[in-house]
Formats: sequence, structure tokens, C-alpha cells
Amino acid sequence: MEQWTDDELYAERRRLADSLPGLADFTPASLHEEWRRCGKPTCRCARKGDPGHGPRYTLVRRRMGRVVTRRVPAVMVAEFEERTKRWAQFQQACSRLAEVNAELDRRRLLGEAGAGRSATGAERQGGATRVTRSARPV
Ligand SMILES: [Zn+2]
Repeated sequence: MEQWTDDELYAERRRLADSLPGLADFTPASLHEEWRRCGKPTCRCARKGDPGHGPRYTLVRRRMGRVVTRRVPAVMVAEFEERTKRWAQFQQACSRLAEVNAELDRRRLLGEAGAGRSATGAERQGGATRVTRSARPV
């Protein structure tokens, strides 16, 4: 990304930002398929080579240090596959967007440092320094 031109970076930022609305309808979890053994010695699942009972689908989400799971009915599995896939794509696009913005920031800050001047538009407001210069339009 460091070899990219500014225009390429701005174009990539636009592309990523435009992709987000289409990905916004997601389920923030991962979908797991489970097969289990009931433990009864006479059950078919106790036989060697039997896959066990299932499949059973659950959504797994880590939230504030806890793992939250939700059972997904079989008729909704395809839908939630799509929704969890969109979540992964959404996160990927956001990470990429962060990289693009970080690179653009790096260039701007290098440019400022190289010019050896202060053009930040900072002004004092109630004791706090506020940077008011606006970013280049996307
Ligand atoms: Zn069984």
C-alpha cells in the first residue's frame, strides 16, 4: 500500500466505504455445526464410524469476555450462513479501510513535518486544543 499513489488510495477508500452499506445487514457471530454423542451405549451413535447426532447449528459470539451461543433452526441455517459471512466481509473491509486511512495520515503528517511549518488550524477553545482542519473530501 506504501507504493500506491494518493489517487489510488483515495479510490480504494471510496470503494471500501461504498461496500459497507451492502454489508451492514450482518450477524456478528460465527456459525458452528455440531455433531454429538448422547452417551447411551445402545444408541447408533455409539457405533464406530457413526457421525453422531446432528447436525445442530449454533451462533457463537464473544461479548465482553463472555461467550454467547444461540441455537439456529435448520430452516434458517442458510440465511445465517450468509449473515455471518457478511460480518466477516464487513470486518475485513473495515480493517482495510483503517489501513488506507492510516497510510493517508502517514503521508499527510510526513508532508507537514517535511514542510517544517504548522498548518494544523489548531485553535484554543476553552483551554483545549481543537484541530479544525477538515479532511480532503472522499
Ligand atoms: Zn446417540
